[in-house]
Amino acid sequence: MTTQLFIDGGWTTASAEPIATYNPATAEVIDEVGSASSSDVDAAVDAARRALGSADWAGLLPVQRARLLFRLADLIEQNADELARLETLDQGQPIGVSRAVSVTGAAEHFRYYAGWVTKIEGTVSPISYPDTLHYTKREPIGVTALITPWNFPLMILAWKLAPALATGNTVVIKPSEVTPLTSIRLVELCVEAGIPAGVVNLVTGDGSVGAMLSSHRGIDHLSYTGSTAVGRLITHASADSNLKRLTLELGGKAPSIIAADANIDAAVAGNIGGGMLNSGQVCAAYTRFYVDRSREAEFVDKLAAGVAGMRLGAGIDESTQLGPLVSAKHLGHVERLVAAGVAEGAEVVTGGNRAERDGYFFEPTVFTGVTDEMTIVHEEIFGPVLSVLAYDGVDELDALIARANDTEYGLAATVWTTDIATSQRLANGIKAGAVFVNMPPVPDMAAPWGGYKASGWGREMGPQAIDAYTETKAVWLHYGS
Ligand code: NAD
Repeated sequence: MTTQLFIDGGWTTASAEPIATYNPATAEVIDEVGSASSSDVDAAVDAARRALGSADWAGLLPVQRARLLFRLADLIEQNADELARLETLDQGQPIGVSRAVSVTGAAEHFRYYAGWVTKIEGTVSPISYPDTLHYTKREPIGVTALITPWNFPLMILAWKLAPALATGNTVVIKPSEVTPLTSIRLVELCVEAGIPAGVVNLVTGDGSVGAMLSSHRGIDHLSYTGSTAVGRLITHASADSNLKRLTLELGGKAPSIIAADANIDAAVAGNIGGGMLNSGQVCAAYTRFYVDRSREAEFVDKLAAGVAGMRLGAGIDESTQLGPLVSAKHLGHVERLVAAGVAEGAEVVTGGNRAERDGYFFEPTVFTGVTDEMTIVHEEIFGPVLSVLAYDGVDELDALIARANDTEYGLAATVWTTDIATSQRLANGIKAGAVFVNMPPVPDMAAPWGGYKASGWGREMGPQAIDAYTETKAVWLHYGS
């Protein structure tokens, strides 16, 4: 059976050719997914436009809108087991990650922004005009398109949809064609929660459907998470159409710095957590390790032993620590970059090949002898591949910061040290949206998330997402004669 689109409160058959979605652990087809045509996209945008000003949506009191989001959070939890299994089936991530990160994270985002609905305030500004009241208020931007990637499909959709709805927008969702199944299920739960017709619409399909949205004049704001290359296309399309507002969460190449005084066991455990989560398919994954030369050998030995001991397997198996990559295409991308590392002279300490089993598995891989100019230091691998570089002590911290910043990206970074001054110098010097000290990269709905440089525009999560999904209106009221 082919999945359907959701437009104006009804499920409808897509007009274009369906696309198969695969189980990455077996390479078998799970489902055929409907592909939207441009007339389907127009219908979804029109429905979202009509719903925007409707009594059923715009007429809701804040407490009523909040109640819908609280109910959706509850429904996600009530269906947690099914959602986690579906995410693992379609995306490949270990079931423990699906439960603890994807599903729990999704529910928490809806509950957090449900709390915000009744707390979105304006200001009264001390303007220098006589007898004039000036106040600001937050208004929804309007019809918002949400385009999501395949690495954490459910949670990333939740971190967009929750603030979009909390602030009164209406939405058209376009999940990745590689992993659409939990997004479809979440839309069913939106209906069950009582979200009115037309407020949430879903168009599935490949990048061409995303391109229809990014050039659509009926879309007021587009929130996108995915590769920097596609982020650039979306930016051009916005500029060439209606200059729709953009929130862009793009690629990353996070450095991890291990100082001489670091607790190496903790750093190894944390870096395996931060580098291997979801088989390294994490935008904030640590992939470049700058280790004080005096601790390099110990770090490499322990890191290589740690990753080599990870249990590879299907995500649905409770004992699996490392699942497959998401697709055959992505497996090819990781293989190509590993081959480039070898060709450019890096040394493979462990791994280096696709695993000999069905599905899209790649061995956890550690490179040493890596130098700053190598492709594996600059390109986003998005796989279980870790590169170790050395540096020469705290006296060289400024040079180290320059090396860590020698990337077009600036999403996340981490620092492992027991010295507070070193941690502060590094945290202040690194150009990244989030710097973690002595811990792996974790998202939290209360903490702003986003990138410097080519890692994106704007911030999602936390109170910052309220800014991202609203316009500020200033009202001037002259009451003098
Ligand atoms: P991708 O860019 O291939 O696809 C992302 C989405 O964009 C998909 O829904 C796709 O169909 C759509 N798309 C493709 N071409 C399009 C076009 N021309 N116009 C509009 N939409 C189009 O990304 P991906 O491979 O699914 O995800 C991996 C990437 O996402 C990595 O670069 C990763 O760093 C990034 N990412 C970033 C964050 C963050 O918070 N910054 C989080 C997760 C993933």
